[in-house]
Amino acid sequence: MRPWMGREEQEAAAEAIASGWVAQGPRVQAFEEAVGARVGTPHAVAVSSCTAALHLALVVAGIGSGDEVVVPSLSFIATANAPRYVGARPVFVDVEEATQNVTADTVAPALTPSTRAVIVVDQAGTPADVDGIRALCDPLGVTVVEDAACAIGSTRVGAPAGSRSEIAAFSFHARKVLTTGEGGMLVTSRGDYAARARRLREHGMSVSAAERHQSRQVVIEQYLETGFNYRMTDVQAAIGLVQLERLDAIVERRRHLAQRYQEALGDVPGLRMAVDPDGGRTNFQSFWVVLPEGAPDRDDVLRHMLSAGVSCRRGIMASHLEPAFAGDAHLPLPVTERLARRSLLLPLFHTMTHAEQDHVVGAFRRVLAPALA
Ligand SMILES: *Cc1c(COP(=O)(O)O)cnc(C)c1O
Repeated sequence: MRPWMGREEQEAAAEAIASGWVAQGPRVQAFEEAVGARVGTPHAVAVSSCTAALHLALVVAGIGSGDEVVVPSLSFIATANAPRYVGARPVFVDVEEATQNVTADTVAPALTPSTRAVIVVDQAGTPADVDGIRALCDPLGVTVVEDAACAIGSTRVGAPAGSRSEIAAFSFHARKVLTTGEGGMLVTSRGDYAARARRLREHGMSVSAAERHQSRQVVIEQYLETGFNYRMTDVQAAIGLVQLERLDAIVERRRHLAQRYQEALGDVPGLRMAVDPDGGRTNFQSFWVVLPEGAPDRDDVLRHMLSAGVSCRRGIMASHLEPAFAGDAHLPLPVTERLARRSLLLPLFHTMTHAEQDHVVGAFRRVLAPALA
């Protein structure tokens, strides 16, 4: 992955610095409004990372000690860490093969009277079936939090990822399609959640620094509860505002390159690749492939690709196999374990040329050829 940034981002960052507002200020507010409008949610709260947004999402939803939070194991580790930040227990569930996402069917067996939330991940940008999972969870009073870290610009049933959940979290890390270097956004349909998240990101302060600055009176703030410093800076937000203008072009380009991969590798027997889900349109944040039976070991494939000058990555990780979660009991996770062992990510970035992509395809076909002959 390479971020796609240009002179416009450099100039926007320089303007923020010249303005004197280098911490959270008016550009952060403008970025929140722009992301909220793009995603179609009434409230957007900018924070320092998606991990921070997931933490605040669980706090504002009232999740705490002794509660169970259902999460896919097959996700970046931040998804599984979030429940632990609030003293809750992550309960791992499996994913469906085709999308690598949790579904109502994979979530249902894990629900207990202690389940208070489910974190649904739009894995690799592929929008999950949030409506189906909410149909299961809403009647039980279980909050659905959408980890849309990878999914800005993806849609499902015509609705932007993040817009069908009560709370969702986006990432703007350099590895994601839209980046501010580091950064995140909590979006929510609930004004009370947004207000509390705004306060918690800024030390639990009763009046924000921006409001005090604008006031003509002396304002003495209070600290209403234990908060955090999860603020985004105006330098980051200035970059984000420019990146948001590029989002449609980024998604179009990624979809074009993904389609080229699908065409160039479509004849490899048994190879599975990232595709649009039913009724959805992915931003192809990552282009995963699952190796067919008979293909070499995944790590050997990665080594062969590297020696051909192609830097790939292992596919989505399985959190329950990491030492940090080794002590946690879990249901059987056969699909997760197979995908974690047999998948990898092929390079995909906005400025990738067709010639570069053809080189990747050629190297990959050569690695697979002996096994498939
Ligand atoms: C990248 C990612 C995160 C973490 O995002 P940060 O902004 O780096 O905190 C969380 N969940 C998923 C699914 C991710 O891919």
